Amino acid sequence: MPTWDYLVIGGGSGGIASARRAAQHGARVALVEAGRLGGTCVNLGCVPKKIMWNAATIAETLGDAEGYGFDVDPAGFDWGKMKAGRDAYVERLNGIYARNLEGSRVTAIRGSAAFVGPREVEVDGDRHQAEHVLIATGGRPRVPAVPGAELGITSDGFFALARQPKRVAIVGAGYIAVEIAGVLSSLGSEVTLLLRHQELLRRFDVALRETLMTEMAAHGINVMSCIHLARVERAADGSLELCGSTGEKLSGVDALIWAIGRDPNTERLGLAAAGVSTDDGGHVQVDEWQNTSAAGVYAVGDVTGKWPLTPVAIAAGRRLADRLFGGQPDARLDYDFIPSVVFSHPPIGTVGLTEDQARDRWGDAVKIHSSRFTNMYHALTARRTASVVKLVTVGPEQKVVGVHVIGIGADEMIQGFAVAVRMGATKADFDRTVAIHPTAAEELVTLR
Ligand code: FAD
Ligand code: NDP
Repeated sequence: MPTWDYLVIGGGSGGIASARRAAQHGARVALVEAGRLGGTCVNLGCVPKKIMWNAATIAETLGDAEGYGFDVDPAGFDWGKMKAGRDAYVERLNGIYARNLEGSRVTAIRGSAAFVGPREVEVDGDRHQAEHVLIATGGRPRVPAVPGAELGITSDGFFALARQPKRVAIVGAGYIAVEIAGVLSSLGSEVTLLLRHQELLRRFDVALRETLMTEMAAHGINVMSCIHLARVERAADGSLELCGSTGEKLSGVDALIWAIGRDPNTERLGLAAAGVSTDDGGHVQVDEWQNTSAAGVYAVGDVTGKWPLTPVAIAAGRRLADRLFGGQPDARLDYDFIPSVVFSHPPIGTVGLTEDQARDRWGDAVKIHSSRFTNMYHALTARRTASVVKLVTVGPEQKVVGVHVIGIGADEMIQGFAVAVRMGATKADFDRTVAIHPTAAEELVTLR
């Protein structure tokens, strides 16, 4: 039976990063992947999504071009061509990931892994032992238990669509729902977003969610709040009919997309054989060192349910490898102040606490500085989008504990501000920083 220093289950963001870092430290590493290398982010997440967001942004720019004096009349949009280019790009990335693993001397094993004992794993009939085992198996889209749910697709099915659907219903209120709604709407589909509560992005700062809600409506997206779907039916013409629990109906839908969260890939992992505990949602429970309940078994990334973002999985995976094999006993990921972008239209960039979270913790010691403005990009466009920046500060020194931005450029703006927040910057530090003009980012260092 092969024996490894480190056996990694899952070749996505977290698994690959951890495996390569461990091998760089001299460990003998094997990585097991059941599907395509790169995992969710590369194949069914960040990468294909960002390409589609780029396409949607180009569509908006083409619409804005006339105001700037261009005589542009786009003849159309070829969804098939965009998809073929996108898929080819993803395939190139799959190859790069395979070569990188080889170059790092990580042995890639193709197949589905399951524990058969403590630190012993079986892959399609072959057994492997390891001193340390990492669970990095990610998650998959959730589908609700309503009659007819199978008539809908998830984000996985969205990326597989060969043709652009004309009338789309999206159920959900999180990252994926608002991102797909924005993409499809900008590319010309008629989009209805169905929320089970009043608002979308409920865990985000109030300024962001209210502004986005207004922007989406202005963008032509039909937002239906407080809808609980009771069933989905196929009509005689092949379209879908969505029926709400209090009699609401949405007919003539070409594509129904479920975007209601994701479930961890844990139930076929044989976790009981290894003594690894999960929470009620099936996520592997870890401490702040990524240790599971079983000695020598660790977990990182979406499977833990903590901040399910690619850079988080990568950072946690690398720190773990540094700790186990790199002689860095204190290496671990600090989960505070993780920045994030929602690729909505317009995009959102956010880091730190929301106003509500800060007030819950510090009450009146919290001071807010914010500004709402129109980006100068719109000086000559018929269309307008709103921009809002907001600083959440606390205490007499006004330490900045949250930065929230929505508007053109927010996606590229927030990374640098996240550095400042992590370093403990105060409002006075922001004020002392000379502005860059004319930009939207300067609004954050010129707040009263
Ligand atoms: P994954 O990347 O999911 O990798 C897990 C791997 O394990 C998979 O390849 C799977 O096949 C494999 N596996 C599972 N079970 C087994 C088994 N038993 N044996 C062997 N292999 C197994 N994050 C961002 O930061 N920015 C974004 O813009 C962004 N956009 C997203 C858009 C969408 C539509 C989605 C769905 C997600 C997006 N994310 C984004 C989230 C991001 O993709 C995940 O946080 C990230 O991929 C998690 O990495 P991971 O290593 O934990 O898991
Ligand atoms: P999210 O957790 O972001 O959002 C799902 C939302 O759907 C819930 O918050 C909930 O909102 C709503 N919901 C849950 N169940 C139901 C239901 N039965 N009916 C209607 N609505 C429901 O999950 P996503 O699937 O959007 O994305 C998964 C994760 O992937 C994200 O959390 C994020 O970490 C990551 N991701 C990151 C991206 C990025 O970085 N740009 C992009 C895409 C994904 P409510 O409770 O308000 O109803």
